[in-house]
Amino acid sequence: MKRVLISGAGIAGLTLACCLADFGWQVDVIEKAEGERKSGYMITFFGNGWGVAKKMKILDPIKEIRYPFQEFQYVDSLGKPYFNVRLDLVRKGFGQEYTYLRRPDFERILLERSKELSIHVKYKTQVAQVNEASDSVSVSFQNGDINSYDLVVGADGMHSGVRKMVFGEENQFSRYLGYGVAAFQTKYRGEIGGSVKIHQETNRSAIYYPVSEKAMDCVFMFPWTAERVPKENYKSVLLETYAGSKWISQDVIKRMPEQGIEYFDVLKQIQMQTWTKNHVCLVGDACACLSPLAGQGASMAMLEAFVLANELKKSASVKEGLLRYESILKSDIESRQIQAIHLTHRFVSTSTQETAWNRLVTRLEFSPLLVGRTAKVFKGKIHQI
Ligand SMILES: Cc1cc2nc3c(=O)[nH]c(=O)nc-3n(C[C@H](O)[C@H](O)[C@H](O)COP(=O)(O)OP(=O)(O)OC[C@H]3O[C@@H](n4cnc5c(N)ncnc54)[C@H](O)[C@@H]3O)c2cc1C
Repeated sequence: MKRVLISGAGIAGLTLACCLADFGWQVDVIEKAEGERKSGYMITFFGNGWGVAKKMKILDPIKEIRYPFQEFQYVDSLGKPYFNVRLDLVRKGFGQEYTYLRRPDFERILLERSKELSIHVKYKTQVAQVNEASDSVSVSFQNGDINSYDLVVGADGMHSGVRKMVFGEENQFSRYLGYGVAAFQTKYRGEIGGSVKIHQETNRSAIYYPVSEKAMDCVFMFPWTAERVPKENYKSVLLETYAGSKWISQDVIKRMPEQGIEYFDVLKQIQMQTWTKNHVCLVGDACACLSPLAGQGASMAMLEAFVLANELKKSASVKEGLLRYESILKSDIESRQIQAIHLTHRFVSTSTQETAWNRLVTRLEFSPLLVGRTAKVFKGKIHQI
């Protein structure tokens, strides 16, 4: 029986854990968080991950999750809609293979599947050191334990610890896109009503998702340098960035508790020459981050995990499986990264002309005539799995 250590119990890590356990591997999953995450942000889910979820038999619980909005409204500085996108139309364009769920929903569904496969996640645990031997890897953990594995996988996200230990410093793999993203949930719902509201101004934009009668998820996007912000400054930086904003953004941010803003990060991609090294590899955002605004990072993380498990199953050796995994997916990820860069400018425009152009393109893309074509472009290559 082959042994794998997966560092990171996110979407990539748990998908990989389930697939490898299904193929008879002995799976250890470690996670640095205190426990199962309850907070997070809204995710669009479509494309390659859809097929993987079907194979993993988790598509039904994913589809059962429905948040109470039926359309997206682009609103002006008074909150007045100037353009609506109906979700039923978008779903039709995607052949009904399109939904919304929050990241914690995703994690819960994957954890339930993991439990059925007797996978145990060890929380508050991190790798301290990775030492490679000729056909195995010895891992020292931060609690002092040492263990040996046939494969170690860094599924630990954009700021991967395994990547740093085995492949090198994060900066050499970071492609900064020039923007920042903040996300949180709040009990203040302003005037958003029952539909998703998108408010775009020059150099900043915001999306508000109603998630219940009493709460909404917010995402803020704005130009930002590579600088990382300490958590205690998230709120003040956001307040400064949205000073003078015409609609509800300032109010929403002001009402947030000092430490209530969960996510604030620079927008970047991870671009690497190679995702694998002997008996260590990376999966998900750790090696192939498209950018949080690409709208398909979760879906592609699932595909990467699935392909990795499948190629390991088919191959005579771990090394061969890793090479096949990378060769199947890497060029597709690279072209999606190019697409993701263009998409970023659609979320935050830097001039009034660009805002006007973006409005026109969005109108065309989501018109009844073109939405099917738009879905095809967004989905990109669908891999046979
Ligand atoms: C605001 C926002 C909106 C997004 N919207 C979408 C969307 O609409 N559609 C979509 O598909 N994607 C979206 N994404 C992207 C998507 O969330 C990611 O691409 C996806 O979660 C990547 O999964 P992952 O498992 O590789 O990484 P993560 O989800 O980041 O999981 C990594 C896990 O590793 C753990 N970890 C980190 N470091 C260590 C360590 N040293 N040791 C152990 N564990 C560690 C983390 O705690 C985490 O649990 C969005 C992202 C953001 C931030």
